[in-house]
Amino acid sequence: MELWQEFLASAIRTPAQLSRRFPGIDVEAMERVAEVYPMCVTPYYLDLIRQLSDPIAKQCIPDPAELDSFGLVSDPLAEESMSPVPCVVHRYPDRALFLVSTQCAMYCRFCTRKRKVGTDWSVSEEMRREGLAYIERTPEIRDVVVSGGDPLMLSDGLIDSILSGLRRIPHVEVIRVGTRAPCTLPQRITPRLVNTLRKYHPLYVNTHFEHPRELTPEAVRALARLADAGIPLGNQSVLLRGVNDDPAVFLELNRRLLAARVKPYYMFQADLVDGTAHFCTPIETGLNVIRGLRGHTSGMAVPHFVIDSPGGGGKIPILPEEYVRREGRQVILRNFRGHLHLYNDRAAEMGSVYEEFAGVPALVEEFEPLAAIG
Ligand SMILES: *Cc1c(COP(=O)(O)O)cnc(C)c1O
Ligand code: SF4
Repeated sequence: MELWQEFLASAIRTPAQLSRRFPGIDVEAMERVAEVYPMCVTPYYLDLIRQLSDPIAKQCIPDPAELDSFGLVSDPLAEESMSPVPCVVHRYPDRALFLVSTQCAMYCRFCTRKRKVGTDWSVSEEMRREGLAYIERTPEIRDVVVSGGDPLMLSDGLIDSILSGLRRIPHVEVIRVGTRAPCTLPQRITPRLVNTLRKYHPLYVNTHFEHPRELTPEAVRALARLADAGIPLGNQSVLLRGVNDDPAVFLELNRRLLAARVKPYYMFQADLVDGTAHFCTPIETGLNVIRGLRGHTSGMAVPHFVIDSPGGGGKIPILPEEYVRREGRQVILRNFRGHLHLYNDRAAEMGSVYEEFAGVPALVEEFEPLAAIG
């Protein structure tokens, strides 16, 4: 067994085990939750907890609030209906999600794929073959996001065979691997794994950090190994109540990520997934976080704030209102301090084709009426 596998084997998987570490917890209440949504926390991640109510604990310790469903559904993004074969989600014209594993080093309590991770649903060899075959016969797919679960929970040999299978397909230009391992089990990022990944460039890795305290020296070392292998790194965070729904926390998180050579890519509005209602924040919280970043720190540290549209409409970016309005040639813009600035939009006078914009703001009103969306 490799060292990371030993770490994983010693993960805490029952509330009873957890109570040895935290004697005060309500084991029975937690067991009722863990029966529905499995728990697993690596000893490494558990060591980051300072108090049972802190942002680290909230992400990994089962909470009875998970059983309050508020009418939420288990697959709000309609991934199942956009799966031509069981482990591929094909929503966008030129890219697809390839779900190769349902295991993770830790089961995040807010996970969008709570319906699948750590459950009896598993990905077989046969399903992965079917997935590859679908991608192969679908030439418009030029970018494959290898995800799960966590693809890096598979053995190096299996990862090698999946990636080489993808690389053999001529129309697959870019491979992206989505993993939380650098955050929850940084020991997984071994030199051997990195040497496997680097054979399949252009290959990107998107990690998943939620809180600045997760950027430990071990995590930063794991990220450095990946970056040193020429792998561009991005980060996808989810806005979570009580974890990171605070501009100061996000500022710190994204600065530390950037210093670890990770570009903050997406900041997601939490999906409306059954069992995660207690993490949801209103959209304004996310706008506030973006306002707290833009201009106040390096533009490289500002992610796209996106809502994955319920029903399967895809990711929709949301921006704070910076274009205020147009008055003739003058456009009123708001800067990061909230001050209004005039921009003299001179394109028309310089013979640009955009003359029609010199009058009234040309709002395209082609969207469906709200009633039609329901
Ligand atoms: C997020 C996602 C992708 C990748 O989208 P990008 O915006 O290119 O990062 C692809 N397929 C599905 C189904 C997704 O949810
Ligand atoms: S690592 Fe990702 S897929 Fe796994 S439980 Fe966490 S959020 Fe879900």
